[in-house]
Amino acid sequence: MKRIHANEIKKKRYRKEMKDTDAIFMVRALELSHVALDDGHGHPFGSVVVRDGKIIGEGWNKAKVLHDPSAHAEVEAIRDACKNIASTSLAGSVIYASAQPCPMCLSLIYLTGIEKVYYCIPGDTIEAMDSRLRVEHIYRELAKPPLDRTIPEIPILPEEVDKNVGRYKVHYP
Ligand SMILES: [Zn+2]
Repeated sequence: MKRIHANEIKKKRYRKEMKDTDAIFMVRALELSHVALDDGHGHPFGSVVVRDGKIIGEGWNKAKVLHDPSAHAEVEAIRDACKNIASTSLAGSVIYASAQPCPMCLSLIYLTGIEKVYYCIPGDTIEAMDSRLRVEHIYRELAKPPLDRTIPEIPILPEEVDKNVGRYKVHYP
């Protein structure tokens, strides 16, 4: 008998939870991914941010045309949503991404307080199409202690810490 992995059970549960509107928002994210593809913007990814059942931000990958490696679909949708609601917090929102978010986008999702991520195309399927994306590599790196990573984070000028933290505290009383 085939063993069912715990993640598979979870995936099935989430599939059951899917509402009709989820499909509508995902179709919109997929449409935006086609914009990225047709206009030569770079990799074909699209995304929408939704709050209270309404799209508050949309984006597609613009990395190539903007010469901006951070202009991923999710980042663009989050920037658009934040601008539209004049806030840096997206608490109470969910994001729909045509493909599973990369570590950079996922970090921004955490930073803005987005509460759920829906994706269509799994990350490993994307990476199989273009190994330069190295998404799995970054996730493995993040799991390591900072000094063991391929790109180490090295603390320097320890004598400057207290002085500067003292200044920052004025802004974070
Ligand atoms: Zn990304």
